[in-house]
Amino acid sequence: MIVMKFGGTSVGSIEAFEQVIKIVQHAVAEQQSAPKLGQVPGVVVVTSAMSGVTNILIDTATQAAVGNEGHIDAAQQSLTNKHQLVMDTFIDDPAERADCDQTIADRLFQFGRMCTSIAALQELSPRSLDIVSGMGERMSAPMLAAVLRSQGITAEFVDAGDIVVTDDVHGGAEPIMDLTIARTQERLQPLLQQGVVPIITGFVGTSEKGAPTTLGRGGSDYSAAILGAVLDADEIQIWTDVNGVMTADPRVVSNARRLNQLTYEEVGELAYYGAKVLHPKTAMPAIDKKIPLRVLNTFEPDNPGTKIAARTENTVKGTVKAVTSIRNMNMITVSGNGLMGVPGVAGRTFNTVAETNANVLMICQSSSELSICFVVPAVDAGSVTLALEKEFTQELDKHVVDRIECQPDIGIIAVVGSGMRGVPGLAAKIFNAMATEEVNVIAIAQGSSEANVSVVIDAENLSRSVQALHTAFELDKPTEARTK
Ligand code: ADP
Ligand code: ASP
Ligand code: MG
Repeated sequence: MIVMKFGGTSVGSIEAFEQVIKIVQHAVAEQQSAPKLGQVPGVVVVTSAMSGVTNILIDTATQAAVGNEGHIDAAQQSLTNKHQLVMDTFIDDPAERADCDQTIADRLFQFGRMCTSIAALQELSPRSLDIVSGMGERMSAPMLAAVLRSQGITAEFVDAGDIVVTDDVHGGAEPIMDLTIARTQERLQPLLQQGVVPIITGFVGTSEKGAPTTLGRGGSDYSAAILGAVLDADEIQIWTDVNGVMTADPRVVSNARRLNQLTYEEVGELAYYGAKVLHPKTAMPAIDKKIPLRVLNTFEPDNPGTKIAARTENTVKGTVKAVTSIRNMNMITVSGNGLMGVPGVAGRTFNTVAETNANVLMICQSSSELSICFVVPAVDAGSVTLALEKEFTQELDKHVVDRIECQPDIGIIAVVGSGMRGVPGLAAKIFNAMATEEVNVIAIAQGSSEANVSVVIDAENLSRSVQALHTAFELDKPTEARTK
């Protein structure tokens, strides 16, 4: 059995839908005709919202929260048109069409009502935002199910809110696996046994208390991996708009190459440091059951894509696999002469940061113990700085801590590859490449996994530094053709 996830662009246009129909038809035929020995046949589809839809939903709600209701009608209209275009093209059956029209209209009516109340209260809570932002998938999934039925595939829409049970961390919820397993088995097994293809909303879930939640932006990849693990799938396929995971973001490096294979660890590092092609948590559910993930191109389905598994066959010592970067970061530095030898400052710093729920992407401490610095997303920097100033009020008064500084417009570059483990000279090579570009390296750290070296630099230098490192490590060439 396979789980196939289609991303926003893969359901973003008529051409994309045509491709998805062919890909699902092919997968269903393959599963029916030649179920591999010992494997349960079946296809499960997870879909994102049509591309751009989640952004429109979030932007409209955000505008409403500052009292600006002017965008609601226009958003409803443009979202209706976007979905109608697809239905006009593929859904001929009048009853099916009426049903589908009604579903889209109901969702957009609910969206309008939500935005009006948000505007009245001038408040957008994370809980309300989850209701609004999950509506894109709740339109695309029932529509995709109807489109597939119109092409002769026995498909049925399933709302992930009925099967994926999460904690109540709105905007970044985590699944509660035992409850998710029970509900998923109960809902999906009968469908699979009857040869029905479930078409499931990505991105969304429901908290134990019954409130709609989301798994975070780009979270449909994670949904697919969660469901793949729960169903013990043979493979989790992530269908997107590029040929696989590449040596760098092809939008930044024009000669980036497709990687044939990667480990879970490598892909985890890449995604964590900004490679948008996969949600950072995607590999996690697959690891325990060793389910391979495959990243494939909806628009070039014959391309082999990238296989992600526990081990790769091609890890050569010293090989760097890819370079990635992440923007919109701030670097916070806690410094002071008095810090030297004062026990517990680092502990208190990170406990305080943890209480703000900010995600720390990188930590560096100078050997002199005069400063501790770490990188957090820009959106969290204000609350982190305030919390630290409060925690260290006395130390600041006594000049044990001199400064708590926040440096804006920072980015991180990560050079990733399991084969880098224990290889000397990699950091020097990174420094050299940056020096040639005259880019100032603010901090450097090696991830605990040793599959990653990360450097902090000014955000304005990110793109050209990624390009320079890609060239320095000859990532545009196959491993065997590299000279260094
Ligand atoms: P989807 O809508 O299918 O989930 P995303 O836009 O979330 O697609 O992710 C695919 C995009 O990720 C690609 O178009 C590409 O620009 C970007 N990307 C960033 N880093 C990488 C990388 N290392 N390899 C491949 N794609 C990458
Ligand atoms: N639609 C959601 C987003 O845009 C989830 C996803 O596409 O994976 O973030
Ligand atoms: Mg994505």
